[in-house]
This record gives sequence, structure tokens and C-alpha cells, in this order.
Amino acid sequence: MTSIAIIGAGLSGITAARILQGHGLTPTIFEKCQASGGRMSSRTSQWGSFDLGAQYFTARHPRFIDELGNWIAQGIATEWLVTPYQLSSSSRLHTQDVVQRYVGLPHMGAITRFLESNLDVRCGQTICGCHHRDEQWWLENTRGEAFGPFDGLLVTTPAPQAVPLVSASPRLAMLARKVRMQPTWALGLAFTQALDTEINAAFVENDSIDWLALDSDKPGRLAQPQRWVVHATSDWSASHMELEPEEVVSILSEQFFKLLGVPARKPDEAIAKRWRFARGNLDGASGFDQRLRLGCGGDWSHGARVEGAWLAGQELAERMLAALQKEG
Ligand SMILES: Cc1cc2nc3c(=O)[nH]c(=O)nc-3n(C[C@H](O)[C@H](O)[C@H](O)COP(=O)(O)OP(=O)(O)OC[C@H]3O[C@@H](n4cnc5c(N)ncnc54)[C@H](O)[C@@H]3O)c2cc1C
Repeated sequence: MTSIAIIGAGLSGITAARILQGHGLTPTIFEKCQASGGRMSSRTSQWGSFDLGAQYFTARHPRFIDELGNWIAQGIATEWLVTPYQLSSSSRLHTQDVVQRYVGLPHMGAITRFLESNLDVRCGQTICGCHHRDEQWWLENTRGEAFGPFDGLLVTTPAPQAVPLVSASPRLAMLARKVRMQPTWALGLAFTQALDTEINAAFVENDSIDWLALDSDKPGRLAQPQRWVVHATSDWSASHMELEPEEVVSILSEQFFKLLGVPARKPDEAIAKRWRFARGNLDGASGFDQRLRLGCGGDWSHGARVEGAWLAGQELAERMLAALQKEG
């Protein structure tokens, strides 16, 4: 049995694993968080779910459009019929756009949870060392435990986190090092008494906030209590990266109320999530070292979106299969 280790249980890693498994290989995924999803994951609390990362996704590539059809048929995704406002501190525009937006059901994290169902996903495993010996891979986690041997390795973490993991290939390490990823502070706010506004989603032109959405208004979500998600701009997030979550809640929620034009009020729940590596884009292909059977990629190699992550997972798996086939 050909065994492949995959680091990262975001959409790219899960997608790659499914393809490899479909070709009779044995993939094992190592994920540092307690659940799959990565930047598509959702936070669930007593108030319901919050999509704190990806808000929705679009589908343009024919292969991804087909895959989306499967997800819709399986009941894990649906269209979100929404026309986001364009908001600034002085204007409020509501013009129709033609973008078709989709969301996971009943939350974004449900997509990878479903897709991982027949896979070996080891959560709570932060991999800090990848060693290539005698044509095989051995992984090491932060507790000093070793895993292996594996015949191949795919690294699907955000690029800056991939650099040390692919150091066996200076070319791949250089590729990952070139990618600059920007941070995002995300806020989740729950209100048992609904805010009085007709806005349910908005792109924002503001120094601190660039997106807000009524998460509880997305299809398939618990409608009450009202749950909002707010994203800070990359610049604001970068310059406030080390603030305590409570301070972030306080600063961004003040802006949030101003933008909506509603009186400020204490939320019943407030969550602040720091995404250190939210978005970045090399706009190229994933990297692959045939001799080492080592691949590296993710959304950052294919367009910094959910669709890009899926395409990256496809490409990495196909390159691994081609490399193995070539060796006969
Ligand atoms: C705030 C925010 C808003 C976004 N909005 C949108 C949107 O509206 N539409 C859209 O299409 N896209 C959006 N995106 C982007 C989208 O979420 C990503 O493109 C996609 O989820 C990336 O998937 P991935 O598998 O490539 O990477 P990830 O989801 O980052 O998966 C990588 C995984 O690797 C794990 N990992 C990292 N290091 C290690 C390690 N050392 N050991 C083990 N595991 C490790 C991580 O925990 C993570 O689970 C948004 C992202 C963010 C953060």
C-alpha cells in the first residue's frame, strides 16, 4: 500500500486525500487544530454557529462547478441569495450584482466535516519536522512523537507555515517563502434582541472594517439569536495583531454599530478570532519535487479562495499520482 502523509485538514488537504484514496493509496492527514476545516471552519457556541473565516464561495472553474453540484446534491452547500450593500461611513448603496454565492450547510465547516468522513484525519497534531530518509518520509509533532514511514508528503498549510516543513526541497521552500499572507481579525457578535437594520451583508470601505454579515440570515442557520460576523481590514489587523481579543471586540464593535447606524449595545456573546495567515496569493501553481515525492500548495497557489483551495488539492493529488506512475 502506498502511504501519503498530508499536513493540513483544510479543503485543499482533504480534497487531495480523497483523490489519492480513490486511486487506492492510503493518505493520512495531520491537523494541528481539533477539527478539520482550516480557514473554512466555523465556531459553534450556545448561541449557534459563526462562520468566522470564509463567508461564502463562488464557482468559476468547470471542475469546481461540477464538484459544487455534488455538494448541493449531498445537502452540504446551497446558494446564498444575498446582495451585499456597499457601506462607508458616509454612504449606503444597494445595487444588484450578478455574483452567485454559496455557503456550507448548516455552516461553512460542514463541508470538510462531510468530505473527511472516510479519511484518516489525526487532529491535534502540530507537525514541526518532516524528515526524508531512505526514500521515505517521517513526520514529527511538537510533542516529539514520530509518524511514518510514508512514501510521499503533501503540505497544504498556509505558505509561511509550509516553509520549514518543506525545507528538504530548497526550491519548494523558496516558492512558499515568496508568498505574503495578510492577517484578519474576525469578530462574532450574538444579540438575543435583534438589531434594527435592513442590512444583512456589506462590503465596507473603512479604515478598520471591510466586511460584515448577518450570519444567522444565511440559509440553513438557526435564525435566532441574531449572529453577526465582522472582518477587519488587512492593514488594521496587521497593525493590531497582538491586541487582546477583548480590546479588538471593543474597538471593532464600536465601528460596527456606527456603520449600521444603530445604537451601540452589549452583545450577548462576542468572539474575536485572529487569523494570522488569512489571505495571500502567488497566482501560480503548487510546487512539486518528484525525486522527494513532496508537494506543497493550497489556496495561496490558486487564487486565495475556497475554489482555489479545492483546485490546489486536485493538482497536488494529480502530481503525486503522476510521480508514482512515472516510477512504475
Ligand atoms: C477571514 C477570512 C475570510 C475569507 N473569506 C473568503 C470568502 O468569502 N470566500 C472565499 O472563497 N474564501 C475566503 N477565504 C479564504 C478561504 O477560507 C481559503 O481560501 C481556504 O479555506 C483555504 O483552504 P486551504 O486548505 O488551502 O488552507 P487552510 O484552510 O488554511 O488549511 C490548512 C490547514 O493546515 C493546518 N496546519 C497549519 N500548520 C500546521 C502544522 N504545522 N501541522 C498540522 N496542521 C497544520 C491548519 O490548522 C489548517 O487547518 C477567507 C479566509 C479568511 C481567513
